Amino acid sequence: MAGREQYEVVIVGGGPAGLCAALYGGRGMLRTVLLERGVPGGELLNTEWIEDYPGFPKVKGRELADLMTQHALQFGAEIRQENAESIVRRPDGIFEVTTSLGTIFEAPAVIITAGGTPLKLEVPGELEYAGRGVSYCAVCDGAFFKGETIAVVGGGDAAVEEADYLTRYAEKVYLIHRRGELRASRILQERLFQNPKIEVVWNKRVLELFGDPSGLKTIALEDTETGQLSELKATGCFVFIGFRPNSGIVQQHFAHDASGYMITDDRMMTSIPGLFAAGDLRVQLTRQVTTAVGDATTAAIAVEKYLTERRQSGAGVGSGAHAGV
Ligand code: NAP
Repeated sequence: MAGREQYEVVIVGGGPAGLCAALYGGRGMLRTVLLERGVPGGELLNTEWIEDYPGFPKVKGRELADLMTQHALQFGAEIRQENAESIVRRPDGIFEVTTSLGTIFEAPAVIITAGGTPLKLEVPGELEYAGRGVSYCAVCDGAFFKGETIAVVGGGDAAVEEADYLTRYAEKVYLIHRRGELRASRILQERLFQNPKIEVVWNKRVLELFGDPSGLKTIALEDTETGQLSELKATGCFVFIGFRPNSGIVQQHFAHDASGYMITDDRMMTSIPGLFAAGDLRVQLTRQVTTAVGDATTAAIAVEKYLTERRQSGAGVGSGAHAGV
């Protein structure tokens, strides 16, 4: 329902960082709302098994997402299925988070945990065969490739983990990497090299994807060292080459790195006072579920302190001229 609503903190994005921030916001007795356009869980929903979350030696991504959602709700946070489209800080220090339904959520603090969008190869054929062979989510689409030969592109944790996952469906999985060395963690690499269904195609760049009306058939490659051209027969091409942070909804200038990742201080506050960032869209060494919830814990506790300081300075935590509208 369109209109203005007031909270003490608005959390934008419902992945592990958002859900953890909501848990702490609720537990800190802050009027807390989390906006998520889909089902809460974020990247957890695209991951079959999580095995590096302390206390859970092996847990389904979906199950952990449900548990985190219930946990946040138990502490009194509200979760709303709305797509946040813009975040603006007014001169009085109150943020307006506007959603595609036209609702304006007002709060003196916002925690943005909106994650990222998968990077595309940006080669001819990628768009044409999206949904007909090209995919960015193994858990969502893997089952369509039972008994087939497919390729995974990338050399990071995501590509290596998903190549392994996809062998439960595919007969053969090529892992195409542009260098001669993987970026992925050692434990994931070991699992990859032990999997007889996986063949790593080293030093290759995808040039173009070819197929027919039934879907993808061939991947054209170029050797990154020799320039030699080759082809690979594959009916699937799963692309895991990183992602672009979803920081574009912030309408004012904020400090960021060359790729658009948000720079924060040690309280997770961005260069915009009252705007905090946590999880995948923040500049940091690694992006794990544990680091996302760690960021979020810091951010939510920092919000409490920020609101106290704001109250003490006389600014209040209400939403100024619009309070009660
Ligand atoms: P990433 O670590 O940034 O790796 C991206 C990979 O794609 C790199 O190997 C990169 O090659 C390659 N690449 C980038 N652009 C390319 C292009 N245009 N064409 C071909 N290859 C390209 O991304 P990620 O694997 O999505 O992981 C993102 C973050 O999430 C990381 O911090 C990762 O640790 C974390 N993560 C963790 C887990 C886990 O622990 N289980 C699972 C998934 C993700 P170069 O190596 O040559 O740069």
